[in-house]
Amino acid sequence: MDKLNLTTCPSCGSKKIKRLRRNATPRFEGHEYTLPNFEYYECPDCGEKVYDREAMRQIEAHSPGFGRLWSKRKLGRTALR
Ligand SMILES: [Zn+2]
Repeated sequence: MDKLNLTTCPSCGSKKIKRLRRNATPRFEGHEYTLPNFEYYECPDCGEKVYDREAMRQIEAHSPGFGRLWSKRKLGRTALR
């Protein structure tokens, strides 16, 4: 439904951006969180990372504070077009 389907990088326009699925361990306020099978897009050209709604939901499920911070900082910038 809300799955993001990116074919070009929103930051640099590269077509090499691809979806990754891995265990992510973001840090927030000194804590490290583990997000198993976390899915996101990463652009090999400029390093931009894009998180879709499903990814944001995972983050919030693991850490509400962290999720809020990320939605503020990231979602605005990587919003769907
Ligand atoms: Zn890029």
